[in-house]
Amino acid sequence: MHTAGDVRVEDREDPRIIEPTDAVIRLTATCVCGSDLWPYRGIEPADHQVMGHEYVGVVEEIGADVRKVKVGDFVVGSFVISDNTCEICQAGYQSKCVHASFVAQTIGTQSEKARIPYADGTLVPTPRQPDPELVPSLLAASDVLGTGWFAAVAAEAGPSKTVAVVGDGAVGLMAVLAAKQLGAERIIAMSRHPERQKLALEYGATDIVTERGDEGVAKIKELTNGLGAQSVIEAVGTQESTMQAIGATRGGGHVGYVGVNYDVKIPGIDLFFAGIHLHGGPAPVRRFLPELIQLIWDRKIDPGKVFDLTLPLEQAAEGYKAMDERRAIKVLLTI
Ligand SMILES: [Zn+2]
Repeated sequence: MHTAGDVRVEDREDPRIIEPTDAVIRLTATCVCGSDLWPYRGIEPADHQVMGHEYVGVVEEIGADVRKVKVGDFVVGSFVISDNTCEICQAGYQSKCVHASFVAQTIGTQSEKARIPYADGTLVPTPRQPDPELVPSLLAASDVLGTGWFAAVAAEAGPSKTVAVVGDGAVGLMAVLAAKQLGAERIIAMSRHPERQKLALEYGATDIVTERGDEGVAKIKELTNGLGAQSVIEAVGTQESTMQAIGATRGGGHVGYVGVNYDVKIPGIDLFFAGIHLHGGPAPVRRFLPELIQLIWDRKIDPGKVFDLTLPLEQAAEGYKAMDERRAIKVLLTI
């Protein structure tokens, strides 16, 4: 991204092994993320910035110290590099690894090849080479599915719970899928977009709420005997959506927040009297990858349906435009 709104596909030098813990992968597919729209819209700075942090592909080369990942493996990786061995990784928070770095800022996987540091910690091989129809779902696991799943876990979605999902982007839809898999009794998707509502219902939503802000909060309370939801997922990251999530949560309930929230200000007094749990941040996708890959492999979940536009990598700029204008939920780029 040369500057906000200016995406170009250009030749870069081929990545190579630098550290003995690196792997070089040839990507099979990549995609455009909602968070890529922050620099696209000028909210985050962009100055000749490499782009992309979601990826699946085949390992081409490994460093001398790589043990678990082999040349020829088909792999899924997280959008945060992690060693998967430090205390924080062992506790399940790989996105806060002592060796963490963001793929988006340092590698840029909207590309044909990528060098992945800490390959043994970051990459998870699939059981075999996947059938082509599984590739979109495996790619979704790299971020949106893993992030939606973490949001649902952070919100403590589960049996007998009502889960409200604020946000109908790819992550919000994946959070609906996750809440369903985790056994939630009732799942309220907050969306006013007919096609996204349809997908939310397919993924397990039981109710759709079109109201937003204070009206959205009132509607959630109305649907929950005035109590609010036990579990609320915040998958947008704006001031309104954040306060909507906090307001929709019953006392003692849990908010799982995964929308990147620039400049959101939560008034301390509102937080104090809400009496709720807040848990979120950059999702430790790596924690969930083995389980998610298996669910996809066994065809128990189909997260790949969030990709509603497929373009060749050369047309990445059109993919950004389509997502920016909300003509596409999520764009898959073929390589
Ligand atoms: Zn670590």
